Amino acid sequence: MTAQKHVIVVGAGIVGASAAWHLADAGARVTVIDAAGIGGVATPNSFAWINASWGNPEPYFRLRMRSMAEWRRLADAVPSIPLSWCGGLCWDLPPVELEVFAAGHSAWGYGIRRVGTAEIESIEPRLAAPPGFALHVAGEGAVEPVAACRALLNAAGRHGAVIHTAVPVERLLLEGGRVVGVDIAGNRVTADEVVLAAGAGALALAASAGFDVPISTPPGLLIHSRPYERLLNGIVLAERAHIRQSADGRIVAGADFGGAEPGTEPAETADALFAEVKAMITGAEGLEFDLYTIGYRPTPADGFPMIGRPADLAGIYVAVMHSGVTLAPAVGLFVAEEILSGRRDPLLAPYGADRFG
Ligand SMILES: Cc1cc2nc3c(=O)[nH]c(=O)nc-3n(C[C@H](O)[C@H](O)[C@H](O)COP(=O)(O)OP(=O)(O)OC[C@H]3O[C@@H](n4cnc5c(N)ncnc54)[C@H](O)[C@@H]3O)c2cc1C
Repeated sequence: MTAQKHVIVVGAGIVGASAAWHLADAGARVTVIDAAGIGGVATPNSFAWINASWGNPEPYFRLRMRSMAEWRRLADAVPSIPLSWCGGLCWDLPPVELEVFAAGHSAWGYGIRRVGTAEIESIEPRLAAPPGFALHVAGEGAVEPVAACRALLNAAGRHGAVIHTAVPVERLLLEGGRVVGVDIAGNRVTADEVVLAAGAGALALAASAGFDVPISTPPGLLIHSRPYERLLNGIVLAERAHIRQSADGRIVAGADFGGAEPGTEPAETADALFAEVKAMITGAEGLEFDLYTIGYRPTPADGFPMIGRPADLAGIYVAVMHSGVTLAPAVGLFVAEEILSGRRDPLLAPYGADRFG
């Protein structure tokens, strides 16, 4: 890989933090710029479940599986990342669909086990009403995403990366048909390449250079309890709620992992969800509500990641996606490889940033 390239990464959420670490680790000179702080905008409001679970076509499943493996590599390289391979227990599908998911994903190599009530009770002894049948994937996990961003950017800093927070990028700089840097409050900062890992902010920055990042930002509400004694061992994906317990003991839950629809009265939505979740766990009588969050998922028009260069424009590399928590390690690695050595990982073939024309 070329050691001397200067790369600006716009965004210090989980995608930008991973891209920055991989680029700096591979020898690039890296400057990270974020309008807010380290940890992102969508990232702190994420359920942060690492998975390659149901509902995805095989190429996307393969990318997610690869990224699950890359999380292990990344956590070895940056051991302060708070990552837990706690497993996921799922019965949030009608039984027939659960069977179809199990058969299909098992054939693809996803480590799914069918478990009955007795085993469910041994995996999650505090469930008030364990189902008769669920699927367990021991290889799924969760990460504390903001702490992971900090760990990655601290480690990138040790490789010489410079991180600027509270600095909005106003527009991309175009010269001779290529992006040559960014404009910050009228000041030009130039680089060999700009990585656009700005989540929902990518839309406006892309427009400033005349290309399109067609994304929507659907909201998702999660509730967070105050820290409490250990109630859950892993991720629980039940019909009425998806729940996990964070490293600091908080119960985090949504109507699904992408968050509940907040509705017109989000505080009421949160209260109802909290009551529901509390009733699902025995021994949770003393569990106290702390707060709810509403996150906005940066979701490209067809639902799949946008990773790569837009059509007919050099100097800019887009990395915008939902499921960025699952995908960050593989995406960071692939971004660094493509920018520094020109090699594009074949897993990215369906997910180019030029596919929308
Ligand atoms: C409720 C919810 C649940 C989710 N659950 C999961 C899950 O279980 N598993 C999973 O894998 N994914 C999940 N996701 C998706 C995942 O959280 C996101 O895909 C991921 O956090 C996106 O990270 P990011 O770094 O691209 O964006 P962000 O975290 O939004 O970071 C982008 C950064 O760019 C900065 N920025 C933007 N514009 C500018 C600018 N002009 N100048 C400078 N900086 C700028 C912002 O300040 C921000 O810090 C969930 C998301 C939500 C909202």
